[in-house]
Amino acid sequence: MSRSDRILRPAVTSADDLISQGLAPEASRDVLARLEDEFRIRISPEMLGAMSPAIAAQFVPDAREAETGGIADPIGDDAHRVGRGLTHRYPDRVILHATQTCEVYCRFCFRREKVGEEGTLPEADLQAALDYLHATPAVREVILTGGDPLVLSPRRLGDLMARLSAVPHLEVIRIHSRVPVVAPDRITPALLAALEVPQAVWLVVHTNHADELTPAACAALRRLVAAGVPLLSQSVLLRGVNDDADTLEALFRALIRNRVKPYYLHHCDLARGAGHFRTTIAQGLAIMATLRGRLSGTALPAYVLDIPGGFGKVPLGPGYLEADGAGGWLVTDPQGGRHPYADPEGE
Ligand SMILES: *Cc1c(COP(=O)(O)O)cnc(C)c1O
Repeated sequence: MSRSDRILRPAVTSADDLISQGLAPEASRDVLARLEDEFRIRISPEMLGAMSPAIAAQFVPDAREAETGGIADPIGDDAHRVGRGLTHRYPDRVILHATQTCEVYCRFCFRREKVGEEGTLPEADLQAALDYLHATPAVREVILTGGDPLVLSPRRLGDLMARLSAVPHLEVIRIHSRVPVVAPDRITPALLAALEVPQAVWLVVHTNHADELTPAACAALRRLVAAGVPLLSQSVLLRGVNDDADTLEALFRALIRNRVKPYYLHHCDLARGAGHFRTTIAQGLAIMATLRGRLSGTALPAYVLDIPGGFGKVPLGPGYLEADGAGGWLVTDPQGGRHPYADPEGE
């Protein structure tokens, strides 16, 4: 597909669009209209151009979203809110939501109760967040997340970056975004210029399947690397999308090839309407154990769970270490063999 084809195709933003584009059957119109009221629909032109079963499952609403269960704030953001748009859970870093808008709405979104609202954080709230940062020297890192911070115009993003970079104790500005993958044309010279501040700017790309890494997405990742932005990735383990070792191997290999270090594989959160995407933890551990034997260490993310209630993220394993009951250890190798290991004498 040529570049102009990608630009001309409009985004899908409604139940009607889904049906007229052949992404959902006419018979599902009523169900889709109800789901649309619950959580916005949007599929970007780039993802429409790359449509595959794994992409459709992430963005096309499914009747199972109406099933009950799940919780409104699965990772407990609200328990650590210190102001509108600002969450401070770990001493050295905060999360700032500058917008709740995204280029695509993922049906498993763990922030779906908030994400999708139009508009950016009001100036008074943004200023209050900046005041909090100036007054809290323990904070070394600001994480801009969503909504998707890279949907902001380069002018607005540049203004935000400049005001953050004026906080003297800030060392790192981290951006979590799906834009380089789902809307790569937004990674323009003007946007890259907006990211140029004295602090280290890290970007964590959200991506769940190798089908998302289109030639245009890979080119956008390359532009970010060329601009000096180190890239990490974060994925969610999703039933029916990427819940097998071969699919995740293909994703992590594609990321490493494109200079993106896989950072986290999230166990799927208990978000409302996302129950059909959840796997068991045992399944996740088995997949990670398989990948440990197959993949370069550089390509392996940590498999993590955000403990419901706001208690933080923890690695789930698989674990390779056990106490032997006599002051030493038993270590399991990637093939399942077990080996004794002793600490230094007298410690
Ligand atoms: C996930 C999260 C972070 C970032 O955690 P890292 O392990 O540093 O990626 C920070 N604050 C909150 C509230 C979070 O949920």
